[in-house]
Amino acid sequence: MSENIHGFCPHCNANLDGELIIDYPLSQGKTMEEAIAYASMYSGWNTHKENNRWGRAIGIYSIDKDRTVCHRCPDCEKTF
Ligand SMILES: [Zn+2]
Repeated sequence: MSENIHGFCPHCNANLDGELIIDYPLSQGKTMEEAIAYASMYSGWNTHKENNRWGRAIGIYSIDKDRTVCHRCPDCEKTF
């Protein structure tokens, strides 16, 4: 059991950690060196390295504010 990176849904307590980021390029046949180059582009790399994971929460983007304003849980579909 690795540490939780993305937290839990405040509504249903779903674990918001997704798959390992480095698993995606490896599943596409990339070498470990190429996979690390890919994974290191994502935030969290400096802290978690090969254990870094995708977040499962869906970012809700506001065109007006030009930023992500909240997130939606993929399990209960509530925002937070
Ligand atoms: Zn939820």
